[in-house]
Amino acid sequence: MHCSKTEPSPLALALIAVCWILAGATILPGPSLAQGASSACPTDPLAPAHTPQVFLDTRPGPGGVAAAYGGVQYHRPTGLGPREIALTFDDGPDPNVTPVVLRALRQHCLKATFFMVGWYAKAHPDLVRAVAADGHVIGSHTWLHPNNLRRLSAAAAEGQISEGMQAVQQALAGASPAEQAQLAPFFRFPGLNDSPTLTAWLGARQVAVISGDMGTDDWRGIGPMSIEWRTLRYVAHADGGIIVMHDTRPATAASLSQLITLLEMRGYRFVQIVPAPGARERAATVQAALARPAPTLASAAGAADRLDAWLQACLQQVESGADALLAEVKSLQN
Ligand SMILES: [Zn+2]
Repeated sequence: MHCSKTEPSPLALALIAVCWILAGATILPGPSLAQGASSACPTDPLAPAHTPQVFLDTRPGPGGVAAAYGGVQYHRPTGLGPREIALTFDDGPDPNVTPVVLRALRQHCLKATFFMVGWYAKAHPDLVRAVAADGHVIGSHTWLHPNNLRRLSAAAAEGQISEGMQAVQQALAGASPAEQAQLAPFFRFPGLNDSPTLTAWLGARQVAVISGDMGTDDWRGIGPMSIEWRTLRYVAHADGGIIVMHDTRPATAASLSQLITLLEMRGYRFVQIVPAPGARERAATVQAALARPAPTLASAAGAADRLDAWLQACLQQVESGADALLAEVKSLQN
């Protein structure tokens, strides 16, 4: 009688199912349930199958100053709860590193936010599309990554921002509407070096400035182990937040999967920062918009052509200089 082989009745099965659902509702975090994401990630038993999204309002604040997020510089709350982490990656896409980062994120069923450099987006549109196809949000990070926009003239700095944004849009021009929709009116200043003038300029275009709550020090050229331990320390100190990483650093890619696992084991939960509903549409309709669903990119192409022409001119000068030197050597030999 202790080992009955009788199959449970349909009523018993239904009761068991109800118990499971109630247990899940008690134990699992709210946002996962809200998105129907109670199932586990098939390749990472510590993670849910879907990354909950945190919506960032891109409407400018008082005085038209751009909405700005990230505790390193700004006080505006991001909506991230305690022990919640949003991964962000700057400076790519990079043909050697970005695919490894994408693979690690896929393995852990995680979505992140990328801030791309226009020049690299133009050079590697396939990678821009791959990032979008994986469901990551894409913001921009200038055209050529001058480390401090404050040192440029207003026109040059604004050109860097707008041409960077347009180059990312151009890279997505042939992508599906769903992939194009991954482009967000998000901007991150190189070196996080913002300025009141440029922040107001971005606010007028309904673009939000995204800073971070902590870095990983990966830009210092440290190894994967150092990145992991420094990040764990910073995350513990800040109790989660927006993490700034770089998908141009091989050590970042090498550390990422293990770092995610270590954070999960410590009870942190990953979320994805995305623009609030309507943000893209608003950004596309303002005068001199930076983010357009169907971009016309003459200026980005023009800038690239100008740079190419400049490089060609330099090479010609070097070559003609070398020719002149050779001719002079020959004349001396004669
Ligand atoms: Zn950067």
